[in-house]
Amino acid sequence: MTDQGKIAVVTGGSRGIGRAISVRLGSMGCFVWVNYVSRAEAAQETVDLIKEAGGQGQVVQFDVADFDQVQVAFKSIVAESGSIDILINNAGITRDGLVARMKEKDWDAVVDTNLKGVFSCAKAAVRPMMKNRWGRIVNISSIVGFSGNGGQVNYAAAKAGMVGLSKSLAREFASRKITVNCVAPGYIVTEMTEELDEAVKERMLAEIPLGALGEADDVAAAVAYLVSDHAGYVTGQTIHVNGGMYM
Ligand code: NDP
Repeated sequence: MTDQGKIAVVTGGSRGIGRAISVRLGSMGCFVWVNYVSRAEAAQETVDLIKEAGGQGQVVQFDVADFDQVQVAFKSIVAESGSIDILINNAGITRDGLVARMKEKDWDAVVDTNLKGVFSCAKAAVRPMMKNRWGRIVNISSIVGFSGNGGQVNYAAAKAGMVGLSKSLAREFASRKITVNCVAPGYIVTEMTEELDEAVKERMLAEIPLGALGEADDVAAAVAYLVSDHAGYVTGQTIHVNGGMYM
């Protein structure tokens, strides 16, 4: 699959799933803007990996939870690159806790980053896409948005909200040939899941028919399909990448 010359923005491209997506898009011929919020070095490492894979990219710092920062950053990307063709809303955080103990700030942080961030980035990216009459937006949801999870009301609500947001965007922009889809990963080995203790990991493993946790590249492969011309007739959908854990 190739996307030669397309301009892509990957939020949270500095680590984990976002890094794998960035490198994959770079190797497909995209110029990749690798976003990060705090880990500049990690984002630069992603750009180095893109270059090793024969691609091109540049880091861009902004906080997806800050509407104004997002609008300014996307304007400067368009000024420098001339356009945005592909947006991957991948940045995400967890602030887990049982609802009785969850603080209001934990709810706000997760919803502002994981859900409002998608709105802010999509709003900024669709303008150049509409001009081109071509665009691809892929939002990284989660299995938890479909199954629910005790201790993650904030995260599950944001990830489920992302699906409704994506379907609505898909309808709004279909006439401009902008497709909007989600990828919902199950349990993928990254820093986010490294925090879980071994007993929890063992329990999860027992629930995965394919018998293994996923790799970031498993998610990147689904994203690569959705941004390619092969997926031109696919919009408003979710691809589940979870080893069969949720069917
Ligand atoms: P990581 O915790 O490994 O990485 C998170 C990334 O998001 C980092 O690049 C981080 O940047 C960035 N980020 C966090 N907050 C912001 C912000 N406010 N503005 C911009 N960037 C931000 O996460 P994963 O790779 O595991 O997860 C990626 C996505 O996939 C998330 O949306 C997550 O919810 C989803 N997901 C993950 C699963 C898993 O099992 N790992 C399962 C299902 C969904 P920095 O490096 O600067 O901190």
